Amino acid sequence: MFFTVVNSMMLVEWLFIVFVLILYFYFGRRSRMLLKELKKKEIIAKIDKAREEAMLGSIGDGVVATDKNGAIIFVNKAAQEMIAWDDSMVGKRLGDISLLSDETGKHVSIEKHPLHQCLVKRKKIISTNYHFVKKGQMDLAVYISAMPIFLKDEIIGAIEVFRDITQEKEIDRIKSEFVFLASHQLRTPLSTINWYVEMLMSGDAGPINDEQRNYLKEVYDGNQRMVEMVNDLLNVSRLDLGTLAVQLVPVDLQNLIEEEIKANQPSIEDKKMHTNCEVSSEIKGVETDIKMVKMLLQNLITNAIKYTPAGGKIDIKVMPSGKKEYTLSVADNGYGIPQAAKEKIFTKLYRAENVMAKEITGTGLGLYMVKSIVEKLQGKIWFESEVDKGTTFFVSFPIKPVIKKKTISI
Ligand code: ADP
Repeated sequence: MFFTVVNSMMLVEWLFIVFVLILYFYFGRRSRMLLKELKKKEIIAKIDKAREEAMLGSIGDGVVATDKNGAIIFVNKAAQEMIAWDDSMVGKRLGDISLLSDETGKHVSIEKHPLHQCLVKRKKIISTNYHFVKKGQMDLAVYISAMPIFLKDEIIGAIEVFRDITQEKEIDRIKSEFVFLASHQLRTPLSTINWYVEMLMSGDAGPINDEQRNYLKEVYDGNQRMVEMVNDLLNVSRLDLGTLAVQLVPVDLQNLIEEEIKANQPSIEDKKMHTNCEVSSEIKGVETDIKMVKMLLQNLITNAIKYTPAGGKIDIKVMPSGKKEYTLSVADNGYGIPQAAKEKIFTKLYRAENVMAKEITGTGLGLYMVKSIVEKLQGKIWFESEVDKGTTFFVSFPIKPVIKKKTISI
């Protein structure tokens, strides 16, 4: 009896030992397998990371990644070369260290840096107007695209890609030079046509009948449109080439505006339109470039006339906006700018469909010119518009702009 009890106890112990051994071998093997798996995953992750870094690193464009505060966490090789990178720059903000200048050579503050802007505005920012200034070297014209990185709805960082576009800019310059020369050469024959058609219409070369006069009128009007287009092309190429140097002089804005309204008096009377001009007496000591502001006013006022039906109203105002700024507004109650056209309205040659459908002639160069003038005079331009209700263009300028010549100093 006693032995039977002892034997069964030993059997239980043995069974327990066998069970523990099975558990040890089974789970030991399993945990070793899990460990192996983990190591494998770690190695794959490392390879993936290295591959991604190698891919980003070997992109020909500059790539900079930052955290949500704009502090740099990654810079690829191309970017390092473009911004004369050194390792002490890790953790700093790109706007603080990259010597970014605008087209006039003015340093771009961190608030205006595309990377900063994309984090603040939570959207992609693209710019082709900036230059990186490399130590001891010529500046580098760059295309910059900055994009916030979202995780669900939260911004976790940003990525900026930039490309050297010095060559493209040079090609653009050559194209502008060609347009400038071609339009310059076209002016003389067009003036000759004008001159002779006017002579024929006035009967200087003998009497003409009504049918002939109508044909000549068609030639004259077509030629006038061509003159307008050639003049616009000439001015656009001058602005693009930068051959129109800004010359700041004291001006009387009221006078300038009234002169432009007067220059448009025939079409204002033709369409029986009403104009109103109001310049606040608080605005004193304005300095600007007369030629450029005349061009700007001419474009905004002729547009307001062209794109407003007969009997409409144009309201021009100049009001202070802040201590050192004024805002000019040109309002009409015309056809308006459709929502779909708003993004593209300042682009070269763009015309909105609603006015094209009405067969109103134009070149699509006016607002592009206006925008370049505003940029040259350090102003801002924007507009409000509703289809068939009207449009107001606003332009704000510093009372005394400080225009820097394009100099690079580091
Ligand atoms: P253009 O008048 O020669 O077509 P602009 O560059 O001056 O060229 O204007 C571009 C386009 O913007 C116009 O074709 C028109 O569609 C729109 N636009 C400009 N000003 C106005 C305005 N005051 N009212 C409505 N549309 C306008």
